[in-house]
Amino acid sequence: MRIYIYCENNALEKLHTNKTNVCNVIQRVSRGTDTADLLIIVYFLTSTNNWRGEYCRNWCNSKDVIKEKGVWKFTNNFKPPDKLPEQFKLIRLVFGTRYVRWPRRTECEHMKLRFKNVEAQIAYLFGHELHHFRCRHLGLHPGAGEIAATRWGFDRARKLGYEIQAVDKAKQRCRLRKIIMRKYRVGSEHIIIKAFDQYQDLLGKKL
Ligand SMILES: [Zn+2]
Repeated sequence: MRIYIYCENNALEKLHTNKTNVCNVIQRVSRGTDTADLLIIVYFLTSTNNWRGEYCRNWCNSKDVIKEKGVWKFTNNFKPPDKLPEQFKLIRLVFGTRYVRWPRRTECEHMKLRFKNVEAQIAYLFGHELHHFRCRHLGLHPGAGEIAATRWGFDRARKLGYEIQAVDKAKQRCRLRKIIMRKYRVGSEHIIIKAFDQYQDLLGKKL
């Protein structure tokens, strides 16, 4: 495994971290996974607030490090690493630091996550992408997709002691439905609500 870190202006200082900490997090998360063919490039930017990761499914070479179009176009601003292997698997991560306030939050399809600090955020995001690498390159976790990758990244980071809080959106909806069913009555009769969508129709915008 090789790790390369690129930093725009004072992005790492804004996050109260440094390159050594970032490498430590990645090494801890990857322990137990065969990462011999893996190259990880992490960008810290001050010009954006976006953060995201990408696992490149196919074998890459030095020409694939820079992307000319799309959300990774900024990679063009950085000189690619020297002496790269002939082919490798690639994970890219980017952390924008235009506005930084902790805890930092994100929301995926099924979970809401809240990170106490940047190490927790890196551990989760790298764990998510590493799960894709384990699936597609090492043949582990057969049939797993995005939800499994999010869950694995979260569990792996938490197991290593990084502070992340999570809300399962399906469970949250279920809890909310129970509360509503307890709370709202018409006269002495309970309004029986079978689905959250029906509840929204029934009570309109008031809630
Ligand atoms: Zn993913």
